[in-house]
Parts: sequence; C-alpha cells; structure tokens
Amino acid sequence: MRVYNFSPGPSALPLPVLERAAAEMTDANGTGQSVMEMSHRSGDFRPIIEKAEALLRELMEIPGGYRVLFLQGGASLQFAMVPLNLAANAQPDAQPGAGKRALYVETGIWAKKAAAEAAKYAEVVTAASSKDRAYTYIPSAPAPAPDDAYYHITLNNTIVGTKWAGLPETGGVPLVADISSCILSEPLDVSKFGILYAGAQKNLGPAGTTVVIIREDLIGRAPEWVPAMLRYDVHAAEGSMYNTPPCYGIYIIGLVLQWLKDSGGVSAAARRNREKADLLYSYLDHSSFFRSPVEKPFRSLMNIPFVPVEEDPEKRGALEKRFVAEAAGEGLVNLAGHRLVGGMRASIYNAMPLEGVGALAAFMKKFEEKARS
Ligand SMILES: *Cc1c(COP(=O)(O)O)cnc(C)c1O
Repeated sequence: MRVYNFSPGPSALPLPVLERAAAEMTDANGTGQSVMEMSHRSGDFRPIIEKAEALLRELMEIPGGYRVLFLQGGASLQFAMVPLNLAANAQPDAQPGAGKRALYVETGIWAKKAAAEAAKYAEVVTAASSKDRAYTYIPSAPAPAPDDAYYHITLNNTIVGTKWAGLPETGGVPLVADISSCILSEPLDVSKFGILYAGAQKNLGPAGTTVVIIREDLIGRAPEWVPAMLRYDVHAAEGSMYNTPPCYGIYIIGLVLQWLKDSGGVSAAARRNREKADLLYSYLDHSSFFRSPVEKPFRSLMNIPFVPVEEDPEKRGALEKRFVAEAAGEGLVNLAGHRLVGGMRASIYNAMPLEGVGALAAFMKKFEEKARS
C-alpha cells in the first residue's frame, strides 16, 4: 500500500512517474538498456537530458540569456559555488572573507548555513534576520550597494515554513535564490534573478541532482584557482557534462516535468498547492488545539509546521510524539518537525495530492477530539 508521505525531502514522487520508470527500468526507449547503464555521451542519453532542460525552460518560462545546469553536491554545494564564482578573491591564499561583499538575508537554518559557507570566500553582510522571532516571518531588508557582488535569499524556508511574499529590490545587484523547496510550486519571474538553484529531492526528482539556472553574464567570473568542478564556466561550456552527470536523476526529473506539464503546468500546480495549503491553514487557524507558528503573510505553500497549543513542554512533547506515531499508523508518514525546531510539519510538495492533505486534516480533527474527551 502506498502511504501519504509528508517528508520534507527526499519526498514523495508522482505515482505515474514511478510507474513509468519501473516499466522502463530494463529497456528505456527501445534501447535494450536501463537509463542507468547508458553512456552519458551516447545518442541514447542525449535526448533525455535535452528533454529535461527543454521542459524546465518551458514550464518555468526561462528567458534566453540564462543557462540551465544539472550538477551534483546538492543545494549545499551551491552555498559554496555562489561565492566562489561571484565574490572570491583572485588570490588563492587570501584571508577568509577577503572577497567581494555579498548580502544575505537570514530567514532560517538553510539561509544561515548558506551565509556561513559564503563567509569563507566573501565579505558576508547579514542584511536582515528574522531570528528574533524564531524565523516565523520574513524581515524587510535594506537595498544593496551598487558594487555588491550579489544578494542572497532563501525563497522558501523548508524548516520553519515561511516564504518570501515579494522579492527584494536589488537594483543592478544580482539576486541569488535558493529555491530548493519551492521550485515549480507557483509561477516565478526568472528574469528577476541572477542565479536560482535547487536540490532536486523536494519538488523535482531524486536526491543527487542540483538544478542551477544562471544568467549568462554571471558565468566566467571565478578566479583561476577555483577547482573545475566548482566553476559555472566549466559546467556551462561542457553542457553539464564536464564529468559524468547524475544521469538517472536527470531522467527522473524529465519524467516529473512531463507529468507536471501534462497536469496543467506551473499555474495549475499553484492552484492545487494553494488549495492544499488553505485546507491545512484554515483548519489550524480555527483549531484551539493545534496552531501554526508562522505569521500569516509569510506562510509557505510547501512546508506547513504546526504545534499543539498546550504550553507545558512535557505534555506538548508527549502529544507530538503520539501524533506522529498514530498518524503513521494510518498511513500518514514523516510528520515530525525538523530536529532543530520540533513540533510537526507537513511538507506538501507538488506530488502530494489534495486527498492526502484532506486525510491529514481529518486525522488532526479526530486526534483533537480524542485528546479532549
Ligand atoms: C533541503 C534544502 C537544502 C539542502 O539541500 P541539499 O541538497 O541536501 O544540500 C538547502 N536549502 C533549502 C531551502 C532546502 O530546502
């Protein structure tokens, strides 16, 4: 039996994608091979990566003048690649942080990690932080100076469940965004960004592939000492095939994108995502048993944390534990909050159907009634 999987990542994939991959497992496209067995430079694999890129360009309406790269190392490697390529000092033996100035908005744990990694190569300035209220909102931040190397945001904060309600004004300074947990969840104007990056394992496919969308003028700025594998210019020049790319992951991403296109594209996904999120938020806002810790204008469509209203930490901890265990017993799995913040969290990416969210809301209601009686 398939469960409803609320995992924050790796997360649920659309069933039709898994079924198609299973059907093609030993013989893809009549080649007599699995995609896993193909040479990445062969005529068999070439159409697979080309189709994945073409679908991503179509679905995200990526303008000309941007390159799409399929890399490895997760979003976490982008935390280093962005500063290495856009801000690092020309001297390999420069002091840590001796690069150009880059602004970071600290909206959660991933944003903080990104800034900490960048601080090894760039002069990192925290433009604003929402740490004062446990990252439950998105702070407003000052505009960058014209010669800042870039301005980094985390568009959707997976752990705390916030998202940017609008984009910051950065003038001519490239806006760089981690979109790991919101890529393709609703329309996004790519032309507003210098770089977008996302680990695949939330809304795109299996872990192991990272998608980078980069404006062409930002390619070729890395100092010479930066290793080949960490350079956008090398990966762009080689069409993501400087070395062996994550072939099977790229193939699954292609299937996921085809599924998304067949189900109406990004605006249809956004309507479904809004409906799913509204169902949970309206339940939470009317419940006197559970609540959402996130301030209303900044609530994520993808990751919805919730906590019991109970204030006694011991009782609350026990309720949370029981909730997660009993939900799993009903086929609603991976609802525990992040280990750093506790509570519960429902991650409801594109592949989560409305029925799954409905089942969760019904379970919450039942749990609440039982706990009160
Ligand atoms: C999951 C996640 C990451 C970490 O991704 P990896 O691919 O594991 O490196 C970074 N940022 C955000 C916003 C995430 O959701």
